[in-house]
Amino acid sequence: MTQDKFSVAIVGGGLCGVACAVGLLKLGIKSTVFEATPKFGEVGAGVGLGPNALRALEGLGILDAVMARVEDKEFADRRSLFVSGHGTHETVYDYENSTEWTVADAGLAIHRAAFLDALVPLLDPQTTQFNKRCSSITTLPSGVHRIHFTDGTTHDADLVVGADGIRSTTRGAVVDESAADKLLQFTNTVAYRGLVPTEALVRDGLKTDLTKRLHMFLGIDKHLVVFPIKSGKIINIVAFSTDNSVPVGSVAVPGPWVQPVPQQELLDEYAGWGPDVRIMLNHMKTPSKWFIHALKPLDTFIRGRIALVGDAAHSMCPHLGSGVGQGFEDVYVLCQLLAHPSTNLSNLEDVLRAYDTVRRPRANMVLERSFRAGVIYESFGKPGYGLQDMEGHLAGIWEPIWRHDLSGDISTAMAALSAS
Ligand SMILES: Cc1cc2nc3c(=O)[nH]c(=O)nc-3n(C[C@H](O)[C@H](O)[C@H](O)COP(=O)(O)OP(=O)(O)OC[C@H]3O[C@@H](n4cnc5c(N)ncnc54)[C@H](O)[C@@H]3O)c2cc1C
Repeated sequence: MTQDKFSVAIVGGGLCGVACAVGLLKLGIKSTVFEATPKFGEVGAGVGLGPNALRALEGLGILDAVMARVEDKEFADRRSLFVSGHGTHETVYDYENSTEWTVADAGLAIHRAAFLDALVPLLDPQTTQFNKRCSSITTLPSGVHRIHFTDGTTHDADLVVGADGIRSTTRGAVVDESAADKLLQFTNTVAYRGLVPTEALVRDGLKTDLTKRLHMFLGIDKHLVVFPIKSGKIINIVAFSTDNSVPVGSVAVPGPWVQPVPQQELLDEYAGWGPDVRIMLNHMKTPSKWFIHALKPLDTFIRGRIALVGDAAHSMCPHLGSGVGQGFEDVYVLCQLLAHPSTNLSNLEDVLRAYDTVRRPRANMVLERSFRAGVIYESFGKPGYGLQDMEGHLAGIWEPIWRHDLSGDISTAMAALSAS
């Protein structure tokens, strides 16, 4: 049985850590998940999953469990309709024109908590440990990694998966420790997030039908991403605002990266925007403000027998809604490699090198594209781009991410492993 060959510890029980534990278990590999918080939990927000993310979940054997939690209309069309944030919200670009994907092919939006609800029951509760915050990882002469926790305890594992998110501690064990702090930068963009009942928006005179499509409301230095969840009954709103007066990386955020803010701050940010934007913001009574940080592309996702997945490896701007999808691709490739018949304790480092060879270039490409997408969205209107420029920039923007041959990645990774 594969599980006897080596022990696996997963640091972080977020979307990627849990997907990894379940994916491994389905392949007969037991792991232990160490989560810093007292229980599994997710912020009350939606998350968009592109077709590539769904294919990765399918490969992991967990798509059905996730789909069982998705309400019909959550097949909201991911092919964005870009509209002006001002005036009468004229159409800027319809992504349907870019692609032959059907609605069903184009991904879905799901409430984050529903995703965990789908997967957590598939985990063995005995193999999850809560209140375990990793503080560092050391390596014993045998090559075994020792995970140190803030409560003074340790855990030894042959293989460590670092799935501890954007402020990852495990990243410090993979990249040059002195550089680790400088790799994560505030992007000068903040995001205000909220969930609003559709009914309330319509009652106040909303003209745009937000129940079927993902809408992007564009303007200079700001944009909103708006999509339906819960069968269109709830609208997920993320309002971004960027300070372009200072270079990226020059501002450090001293306080928490997520803060509750008075609604007035949000209303002031969008003063003068169009009527539907104002209606949406008026209903975000208790917005939370997220200081969007992103990693500079890492030179490696692995060291020894430690592999980073998800935001620990490639925390990116959310502008292409692709962060967790890249995390699921990581997890899918890693699980397949670990379950390969030729994988054993003695070649785990080769296995991780094969993982890094395939996953790092692609995830870093998506990371860089995600930053660039935000710049494009927030350049619409004078003195920025006009309609024709926008069409040129937006056409096909998701295609390299969505139309990707994941099984080809697995074959490439297997070939790299065989060659090592
Ligand atoms: C505003 C916004 C909108 C977004 N929208 C989308 C979208 O539509 N589509 C999309 O694909 N992505 C989106 N993303 C990105 C997506 O949320 C992340 O890529 C995803 O949550 C990463 O999952 P993860 O499991 O790697 O990390 P996380 O979900 O952050 O999980 C990390 C887990 O590790 C735990 N942990 C942290 N430190 C430690 C430690 N030291 N020891 C033990 N445990 C630890 C945490 O408690 C947490 O449970 C968005 C992000 C933002 C900010």
